[in-house]
Amino acid sequence: MLVLEAIAAGPVATNAYLVADQATRMAVLIDAPMESHWWYAERIAALGLTPLALWLTHSHWDHTADAAAIAEQYAIPVLVHPLDAYRLRDPNAQTVIPLPLPLEAVEIGGYLHHGQQLTVGSLSFQVRHVPGHTEGSVVFVEHAARVVFCGDTLFAGSIGRTDLPGGDYEQLLASIHRELLSLPDDYICYPGHMEPTTIGQERRTNPFLQPSDLYGNRWERQ
Ligand SMILES: [Zn+2]
Ligand SMILES: [Zn+2]
Repeated sequence: MLVLEAIAAGPVATNAYLVADQATRMAVLIDAPMESHWWYAERIAALGLTPLALWLTHSHWDHTADAAAIAEQYAIPVLVHPLDAYRLRDPNAQTVIPLPLPLEAVEIGGYLHHGQQLTVGSLSFQVRHVPGHTEGSVVFVEHAARVVFCGDTLFAGSIGRTDLPGGDYEQLLASIHRELLSLPDDYICYPGHMEPTTIGQERRTNPFLQPSDLYGNRWERQ
């Protein structure tokens, strides 16, 4: 059984997810928005969990601002896809607008690769590389629990922005079709912002993913 708690934290309401295996109390932290480490500390203590690692869906600052503090507090590794590692090494040079507070560089404890299986007690998460929002965006799929942590790749009724450095609209759509819409309809998608949704709901209603859009684009290109 999977234990899941979430909070939206920081100036752009970024979701942090605390995911644990009920039997062993082993836990993983998914993303580290600004000021999330107080919430994580409170919930980890309250639930009696043992954190194993911090996984990053991608390395935009709103998902990583508290990563260094969390890694230090629990002596756990921060895992990121290699193509997104550069923003952690020099985070302040990578923000499009200067932030009021400087970001701490994050020491990378390990890399996430497409197809990798990550074990948390009895839970098993599959890493899928979904470039488009950033070069090294990933999602984490837990097939037994039928959930996917989809970062800023897919949202309820929307998709990730692609106008920031490293973004690519065509690549993002291809990633969503290949790695997310290939999942069954009932899988719950926990995104990096806003409320959860399901793969089926987005397949049916997300305006960016409708076949009619493809025809529209084709017309425009003629
Ligand atoms: Zn992002
Ligand atoms: Zn974000």
